[in-house]
Amino acid sequence: MDLALANLNTLASTMSQVDPSRAAVLGTVLAWIAGLVVLGIRSPKPQEHHLHQSKMPEGYTARTEGEQQIINAYDEAQALPWIPFLMRNIRWTMSTYIVMIHVLAAFALPHLLDCKTQTLFGIAVFYFISGFGITGGAHRLWSHKSYKASASWRYFVMICNSVANQGTIYHWSRDHRTHHKYSETRADPHNAERGFFFAHVGWLLLKKDPRVKLAGQHINMDDLKMMPEVVLQKRFDPVWNLFWCFAFPALTGHFLWGESLLKAFMLMGPLRYVLILNGTWLVNSAAHLYGEHTYDEHANPSENPAVAIISLGEGYHSYHHSFPNDYAASELGVSAQYNPTKLLIDLGAVFGLVTDRKRSLKLWEMRQKNRGITKTVLQGPPMLKIRKVVERRSIAAAGECK
Ligand SMILES: [Zn+2]
Ligand SMILES: [Zn+2]
Repeated sequence: MDLALANLNTLASTMSQVDPSRAAVLGTVLAWIAGLVVLGIRSPKPQEHHLHQSKMPEGYTARTEGEQQIINAYDEAQALPWIPFLMRNIRWTMSTYIVMIHVLAAFALPHLLDCKTQTLFGIAVFYFISGFGITGGAHRLWSHKSYKASASWRYFVMICNSVANQGTIYHWSRDHRTHHKYSETRADPHNAERGFFFAHVGWLLLKKDPRVKLAGQHINMDDLKMMPEVVLQKRFDPVWNLFWCFAFPALTGHFLWGESLLKAFMLMGPLRYVLILNGTWLVNSAAHLYGEHTYDEHANPSENPAVAIISLGEGYHSYHHSFPNDYAASELGVSAQYNPTKLLIDLGAVFGLVTDRKRSLKLWEMRQKNRGITKTVLQGPPMLKIRKVVERRSIAAAGECK
């Protein structure tokens, strides 16, 4: 007993001597290696445990013999060795970038304890700004065109989007339109049927499935080619986004409130960036796997309030996939469903910067009738309500099949 206690004490004192930043870095690297291994052993075939697998038709099929050969070669390479460094379709540059940025974020963590208070606010502000650049910009404005906005709003949101540094608006929107059109098929860039890790980040670490590439080539992007703010960002990619994501927050903290340049960079750059990256990725992973399928019981996208908190209101994903043109991306108002993105767009409308906000509530009403839904209830804590279907007639009794 004494010996066990002595061993425990030795272990505890050894642990306390480990530099926390080193432990965090080691933990991050190990987690990523584990992730790659998980990715490696994943078969590209749909996983049995997902709820509605295979209900959707295959999103994209080859049109020529050559296309089919490319697809076959990809599938073969995916099915081969599960040891990551033997895999043939890892994007090594992107993988290294993503691992390194997580390592930098881990190194930044200890500085949370010795930075200025303004810097802590700065992390939150840049998290919100960059998050809105994705949710209110790349997503609801440019991908879905769910509202219209003045030039000043569009340029401002384009800068916010650049702080998020998730590729250009043009490429983000093309991938996102592909995601909606071919949701949870092999042509979906982050097909959640390939598991949580793939939908979260694995899709960025691997070369694109040729079906995704081919599907993307057939997505109409002419509208965004005509938008000067989108073209400007694309023209100066990647320097433009790198400046706004890393240099701008560092300079702001350094010159506005005298934070050391290194701390301002590490905390409002890599750390904040990694937080909002993972917040965005959770919409593709968690909100496609966990939650109520209220608005379309045949599709995996889910109502996930935890993701809504992290992603500024993008967690109501069953509603969003059912009604992608709705600028709120949620059924209810902000007092019932936390949705700061909607709030900010509404604020823009008050000042006349935003117009033509589309809603889909009538469509939802029609769908309830068509699908025989007779009773729903709202569940959950205040501001995080989720609608749940509790009663429906059988489809035959409802007299319709859709
Ligand atoms: Zn989705
Ligand atoms: Zn969307």
